Amino acid sequence: MVTINQIVDAGLCCGCGTCAGVCPQGAVQMVIQDDLYVPQINSTDCTNCELCVKTCPGHFVDFEVLTKTMESDIEDADIGRFSQCFVGFSTDPGMRYDCASGGLVTQLLDSAFTENVIDGALVIGMKKDRTSEPHVFIARNTADLVSAAGSKYCPVAVNEALRQIFTEDGRFAVVGLPCHLHGVRKAESYYPILHKRIVLRLGLLCSHAVNFSGTEAILKKMMIRKEDVTELRYRGRGWPGFMSIRTPSGAKYIRLTGGWNAYWSMFSTYFFTPLRCAMCPDQTAELADISFGDAWLPEMRNDHYGTSIIVARTKSGERMLKLAETSKKIQLRAVTAAKVRQSQWTNLKFKKSDLGLRLHLLRALGMHIPTFTPKPAGSSSPVSLLRTLYVYLNIHLSTKKSIRTLLTYVPFPLFRLYYGLYKLLCMI
Ligand SMILES: Cc1cc2nc3c(=O)[nH]c(=O)nc-3n(C[C@H](O)[C@H](O)[C@H](O)COP(=O)(O)OP(=O)(O)OC[C@H]3O[C@@H](n4cnc5c(N)ncnc54)[C@H](O)[C@@H]3O)c2cc1C
Ligand code: SF4
Ligand code: SF4
Ligand code: SF4
Repeated sequence: MVTINQIVDAGLCCGCGTCAGVCPQGAVQMVIQDDLYVPQINSTDCTNCELCVKTCPGHFVDFEVLTKTMESDIEDADIGRFSQCFVGFSTDPGMRYDCASGGLVTQLLDSAFTENVIDGALVIGMKKDRTSEPHVFIARNTADLVSAAGSKYCPVAVNEALRQIFTEDGRFAVVGLPCHLHGVRKAESYYPILHKRIVLRLGLLCSHAVNFSGTEAILKKMMIRKEDVTELRYRGRGWPGFMSIRTPSGAKYIRLTGGWNAYWSMFSTYFFTPLRCAMCPDQTAELADISFGDAWLPEMRNDHYGTSIIVARTKSGERMLKLAETSKKIQLRAVTAAKVRQSQWTNLKFKKSDLGLRLHLLRALGMHIPTFTPKPAGSSSPVSLLRTLYVYLNIHLSTKKSIRTLLTYVPFPLFRLYYGLYKLLCMI
């Protein structure tokens, strides 16, 4: 039998927190170790029921089985099963401006409260005391939702709020990255009570996560002490938006993309990326009811308020979009799946085209790799190999403390140039 400790030791844990959320004995705690969340098991309380392992998405995800109940009409190799794709945004200008890419997630959850679809929503804010750590909680109203708006580029474990859904009667929405939803869907298949209570799953598109040292590197580059930060936000203030860091002496803002001080290129090069993300097959949250991402499209280049790309997959997802659209809370325009692919083209190279080769390389290097159904395919062209080596090298290098320190001295524009090289490799 595989154990959670073996999954962690094999490097397959994505830190989602599902195991700690579902353990009937409360024997699992999530702790920060090596810049990531990992589970820690109290063996005295453990009864060896294996539910943690069965629901863990780290070592095994069967997409064929988990999508069976989703009633989606169309199957797409890149974006999974879906019924319709859109671009859209919240019609509340304040919400649109303050959220990540159009405020659709926050607005839709707010509409789900107004339309009496949900009683609570699992969302992710940032802690008030340890400001660079995420705070996962059940939102009950608009103010809670607004406090959790924006993408968090740090590890997120959803266990505590997931446990709350087990203990409280009601209807819940869950927001999460693809791997969170892999865990949630697996847990739902073992716990009917969870399946009954979770009525809406909103997924964020995800190229890769960023470990805690990524944020620390930005703070060091900005010459801000972590202890001095009173508030940290990665997105907001328009699109693609700014990271804002508040300290007692004021606020500093750095652009996400474009301009001299843009920080996302530093992460786009896969520095500060957990190795498990290099094994992940899901860019578009294929197990969500609705998936949301930035509409990185040429026609949106001058949109400074934010527009999301949306993939509706299930009947409950479609119903929720319709409700919010009818009450004029959101604006939608139908687009083809090709637009979704176009908006995520470099990320799809990483998640789909190169995955088979990358898993092959990792196995050749003696690493364990997860099992997915269907088995990831992909190209084995020389350029795919070059991209694979680029990604692996950067992930590997940034596990070294000395390299991480060195990276804090590299100016942001140099990361941009270096990311340009990867983009060039994607174009070939
Ligand atoms: C790590 C990460 C990687 C991403 N990668 C891509 C990508 O490759 N391509 C792309 O198009 N979009 C990506 N996104 C999604 C994008 O940044 C926006 O989150 C998405 O477009 C929704 O925007 P919104 O304005 O509707 O969200 P908002 O209305 O701002 O709401 C965001 C919601 O997401 C939740 N949330 C924030 N961070 C996390 C997190 N780390 N884990 C789980 N839940 C979280 C919050 O609880 C909040 O409810 C990524 C997001 C994250 C967090
Ligand atoms: S359930 Fe999530 S946190 Fe737990 S071992 Fe698996 S991947 Fe890691
Ligand atoms: S085996 Fe069962 S009791 Fe033990 S940690 Fe896993 S879920 Fe908890
Ligand atoms: S790349 Fe995959 S494993 Fe990594 S954070 Fe995103 S969804 Fe999770």
